[in-house]
Amino acid sequence: MTSTGVAGGVSRESAGTSAKPHHVRDASETVPPVVEVEDVTFAYGEQPAVRDISLSIEAGDFLGLVGPNGSGKTTLLHLMLGLLEPDAGSIRLFGEPVDAFEEGERIGYVSQKATTRAGTMPVTVREAVRMGRFAHVGLSRLREEDREIVAEALETVGIAELADRRVSQLSGGQQQRVYIARALASEADLLALDEPTVGVDAESRDAFYRLLDSLNDRGITIVLIEHDIGVVTDRADRIACLNTELFHHGDTESFVESDALAEAYGTGGRVLHHHH
Ligand code: ADP
Ligand code: MG
Repeated sequence: MTSTGVAGGVSRESAGTSAKPHHVRDASETVPPVVEVEDVTFAYGEQPAVRDISLSIEAGDFLGLVGPNGSGKTTLLHLMLGLLEPDAGSIRLFGEPVDAFEEGERIGYVSQKATTRAGTMPVTVREAVRMGRFAHVGLSRLREEDREIVAEALETVGIAELADRRVSQLSGGQQQRVYIARALASEADLLALDEPTVGVDAESRDAFYRLLDSLNDRGITIVLIEHDIGVVTDRADRIACLNTELFHHGDTESFVESDALAEAYGTGGRVLHHHH
């Protein structure tokens, strides 16, 4: 794994004077939250799937989004990314109302079914990751600089040696890395991952989460939906726990100490599988 920053490499800010990752906060900083959800309610039919949710994700956060099956996690993520429109309330992305937000390349999204779909992707790993550059250069030829960014993204996620293989021939864990590499190549500031390790073996999963940690250390904001509470409390620095409504939003430590999990799952007796 290289230590040079893909996201911080040839970024939009490279013409500026500061080499500081954009997430580093200081007293004078007025950077808006990466995501701001305010009083959001959304229903597919009669019953709201999410109700009265307010939360914000600050630049550099690693937010774990947890809750039982059907609790509205995917729905909330889709609302955050502008893939669904709230019935009530408002959402801002990087300070912009989500429906006016036009910098899609700032967001890397790995959907819940990404790996099942990747099985039919008739392209090589390198081609798939190059797609991350098209947001920057359109369909014109990639420049040398774009090729370097693609190579670095492949290197960062540890799939450089798979570059010429077809995505459809890779394991689930390797395919997840392709998606992450594509997001890195697009120089996303926000990575949104919906149960990214379902169907991935334990060893690849650990490596995958170490990769997320290192990306977060470089300043990439992460929102992760993960059903394994132990994994998410080990990795995330903040937790949003929901079951239609928000039961907890705050730092991981206060979540672990709170009753939010039991309340959201409605079990009362559920134990945290938290191991170090
Ligand atoms: P989670 O990701 O936490 O499992 P979802 O956001 O997928 O939960 O779903 C929340 C609720 O909305 C569930 O009751 C689910 O059945 C319902 N739902 C999800 N997607 C749709 C859809 N496209 N049409 C109708 N109902 C849906
Ligand atoms: Mg879901």
